[in-house]
Amino acid sequence: MTYDPTNVFARILRKEIPAQLLHEDEHCIAFRDAAPQAPAHFLVIPRRPIARLADAGPGDTALLGHLLQTAAALARRLGLADGGFRVVVNSGAGAGQSVFHLHVHVLGGRDFGWPPG
Ligand code: AMP
Repeated sequence: MTYDPTNVFARILRKEIPAQLLHEDEHCIAFRDAAPQAPAHFLVIPRRPIARLADAGPGDTALLGHLLQTAAALARRLGLADGGFRVVVNSGAGAGQSVFHLHVHVLGGRDFGWPPG
């Protein structure tokens, strides 16, 4: 799908609106979710403008790995690794995606059910 640069995460990347930043590097940033669904809930997003996981291509392979590596490193840093944490990517409105800039949810600090809703 076409990337809309007015989406809220694009605005966070441009520092037009604030976020509780946890991490920043050349390829991605991570910040706390504004409506947390668990005691710990943060998002890892690429700087590259990709609307949905479904829009990622072969040229994004290293970037996708970096997002997951960053998610795990932050989960460890926040003390979530031993208790377990959930990683979620909603791709498309039917899956619950509401912000159309690719993002990895990381949730922890409670138990999670399966299958997810
Ligand atoms: P999704 O529904 O998978 O697209 O997830 C979007 C997530 O972004 C939701 O969990 C929202 O709570 C979160 N969110 C929306 N706006 C902001 C914001 N300004 N700062 C932090 N998180 C946000």
